[in-house]
Amino acid sequence: MLDELLELLRTVDERPVWTPVPQDVKERLRAPAPRQPQPVEDVWRAIQQLIVPYPTGNIHPRFLGWVHGTGTAGGVLAEMVAATLNCNLGGREHAPVYVERQLLGWCKEIFGFPPEAGGVLVTGTSMANLVALSVARNNRCGEDVRANGVTGGRYVVYASREGHVSVRKALELLGLGARALHVVPVGPDFRMSVQALQRAIAADRARGLVPFCVVGSAGTVNTGAVDDLGAVADVCAAEGLWYHVDGAFGAMAMLSEEHRQLLRGIERADSLAFDFHKWLHAPYAVGCVLVRDGALHHRAFTAEQSYLERHDRGLAGGAPWFCEFGPDLSRGFAALKVWFTIQEHGLDKLGANITRNCAQARYLAQRVEHAGDLELKAPVSLNIVCFRYTQPGLGRGELNRINQEIVYFLHEHGIAAPSTARLGGDLTIRVNITNHRTRYADLDLLVQAVREAGARATLVSVNES
Ligand SMILES: *Cc1c(COP(=O)(O)O)cnc(C)c1O
Repeated sequence: MLDELLELLRTVDERPVWTPVPQDVKERLRAPAPRQPQPVEDVWRAIQQLIVPYPTGNIHPRFLGWVHGTGTAGGVLAEMVAATLNCNLGGREHAPVYVERQLLGWCKEIFGFPPEAGGVLVTGTSMANLVALSVARNNRCGEDVRANGVTGGRYVVYASREGHVSVRKALELLGLGARALHVVPVGPDFRMSVQALQRAIAADRARGLVPFCVVGSAGTVNTGAVDDLGAVADVCAAEGLWYHVDGAFGAMAMLSEEHRQLLRGIERADSLAFDFHKWLHAPYAVGCVLVRDGALHHRAFTAEQSYLERHDRGLAGGAPWFCEFGPDLSRGFAALKVWFTIQEHGLDKLGANITRNCAQARYLAQRVEHAGDLELKAPVSLNIVCFRYTQPGLGRGELNRINQEIVYFLHEHGIAAPSTARLGGDLTIRVNITNHRTRYADLDLLVQAVREAGARATLVSVNES
């Protein structure tokens, strides 16, 4: 199985990026659970027939949609080790806990957080945002929030219009309500308007609301925009607000010599959320939250129970336990695949890959700008390019339909997998390059395929009207 899996990775670009799941496969995947053991050979054959040909496709060099990591062959091996040892990293005294602590130490150093900062690995940035915002809430939204719930005011969190939806979800889960999120406008560069933020804080205070937190974006999902993290830090410091940064993929640009300066100010965050499964290519699912004040982080989640009592010696030692830094008690050894990735490749090479992805995005933007039938729809600051196919005389509605049709065509023919982004009212083809397998030739192929599909879709559109 291992040999065949590695071969699958080696030959990935010989297959379509994506293949629709056939109806008969969906039906077979609705069969009832077997009562008796099945021979493992048969199970592997079923995997090869039903699952392997129909994956998301993000291990393919022309997967360019949403923000997906690519994974590595090394990640496969690390997962094998972790599953074999099958450790529970909720706590206790064993080496895997020290691996996670070492990894967190590396991250604190990368992002300029102090060694005593709190941190824990979670499934992704959605969970990391939730954990960070619950620490912020417990610290700022009334007396003893864990016992009393949120009391004493209508609390407000700010994020830019381009901020991620997981922030709103977190506020809903935390009992603050989606309306606690006040959306700050962005400029033409899709970065938060810091002046608008300041005005909103003043206006909300005048209305008797209680602002307590600002979420800065280090890489927005639509366009890769990075807020002016230093300027937002200044506002938070002046106003006494908790400063959280959502750096899901963009935070990893700290590893890139060339792009690090874009993130200046990230080291001043009170909390930071980011993913290892996006731009660091660890297999899904693993992200991380860091909290500058480790004691506040601990206080938000620690819970005493006799059956979880810590001891000075033996296996029940090893305090503090990771279960005291987030909602999960049982936790897998996700740290190993990240630790392994960093050991195998080193931070410099991982950073160079990030630099290359950004250079590829600029290259694609240039190709778009030089093509008469394509137009760039947002500035390219990191690794995301939003553009569309266009022809003179077509209205917005027609162009939106044509560009949607182009993306359907590319997916359904397995050619490439960009996604879409709506910017203003325009539907754009959105290319995100967090893919160490993407080559420049893949982008050339994409441009050609978009133009051909666009010309065909235009013809159909014109004939229909
Ligand atoms: C992906 C992403 C998230 C959510 O992270 P998950 O790991 O998918 O939970 C949050 N914010 C941004 C900016 C993202 O790109």
